[in-house]
Amino acid sequence: MAVTGKPPYEEGNIFARILRGEIPCRKVHEDEHALAFHDIAPQAPVHVLVIPKGPYVSFADFAATAPAEELAGFWRAVGLVARQLGLEDSGYRLLSNMGPDGGQEVGHFHVHLFGGRRLGRMVP
Ligand code: 5GP
Repeated sequence: MAVTGKPPYEEGNIFARILRGEIPCRKVHEDEHALAFHDIAPQAPVHVLVIPKGPYVSFADFAATAPAEELAGFWRAVGLVARQLGLEDSGYRLLSNMGPDGGQEVGHFHVHLFGGRRLGRMVP
């Protein structure tokens, strides 16, 4: 198996700038490990992005290199945000685009949280 190092993190990416407060966002939740805010181009009545505070390029980077406390804190925040938005009973969808084939556009790991209507079947 090929050994790959940690991919380079681009400090100028849009979510890094949001984290640093250089670009505004419609914040939903913030804690030690995560920031959640509304997507600028929502694809559903509720479309929120949840991002870790650490410099992780993608899901693969986050899963492989984040300390356990950050992993737990991040995923706990995702669940909290969904509950806070009142989506727990109706349901919701989580999605993370990973790398070029996954359609990832912003090089800071993020999870999309969609809800607010009956979502269509997922088509790759
Ligand atoms: P990706 O394709 O990388 O999984 O998703 C990136 C998401 O970030 C897209 O849904 C896009 O609409 C959203 N996005 C891009 N730029 C901004 C921005 O400046 N602010 C916010 N709130 N969302 C953004």
